[in-house]
Amino acid sequence: MEIKDNLSRISATLPTGVTLVAVSKTHPAEMIQEAYDAGQRIFAENKVQEMTAKSKVLPQDIEWHFIGHVQRNKIHLMAPYVSVIQGVGSFEALAEIDRQAARFNRHITCYLQLHIAQEETKFGFTPDECRAMLEKGEWRQLKNITIGGVMGMATNTDNEQQVSGEFSYLKKCFDEFKERYFNDSEDFRTISAGMSGDYELAVRAGSNMVRIGSSIFGARDYSNQH
Ligand SMILES: *Cc1c(COP(=O)(O)O)cnc(C)c1O
Repeated sequence: MEIKDNLSRISATLPTGVTLVAVSKTHPAEMIQEAYDAGQRIFAENKVQEMTAKSKVLPQDIEWHFIGHVQRNKIHLMAPYVSVIQGVGSFEALAEIDRQAARFNRHITCYLQLHIAQEETKFGFTPDECRAMLEKGEWRQLKNITIGGVMGMATNTDNEQQVSGEFSYLKKCFDEFKERYFNDSEDFRTISAGMSGDYELAVRAGSNMVRIGSSIFGARDYSNQH
């Protein structure tokens, strides 16, 4: 199947108001261009250098989202162009993104990554850590970032009930944070959840942004990476 067909098939299953982020990690710029030509404008990558190299050779109106683990010493590489950094898991990361955004006279949207899965390996805040950070309020001083919502990944399991429960928990945290800390803000509105294998469950639980890679671009080949 062609990328274009995959995009329209997936878009057709998404309710209005759900944003499709095309996860292009490991795939060459030509495949991203193909999706771009079919109308897709939002792409996500999880390696800063790879995203930066692609951003230089692809159309400038692409909205790049970073979905990898945020390493503080690499933020400056993407600060000049990145639109959204989705996986922010500490106040320190937020502060550094703010500092780098200011250096480049930019504004960067950040999503708070919440650890909702039972798996040990997923990065992010626990809901308690996130609540404590928001309660402390220092983030309100950061003028070059906007906290635009939350992001989460469910456990990689066939147990749909568990996956749905984790997505619902993310939605519940979002609603609570919205009410407590962002009531006056229209910017805090995104719940980024759902990948190729579980996005329908995520949308049903309230996600309004899905991050889909393999169902658009096919399986990833990691064999030439180190
Ligand atoms: C790779 C990745 C995705 C996309 O996964 P697919 O299963 O290929 O759709 C979504 N979110 C994150 C954070 C990822 O790293």
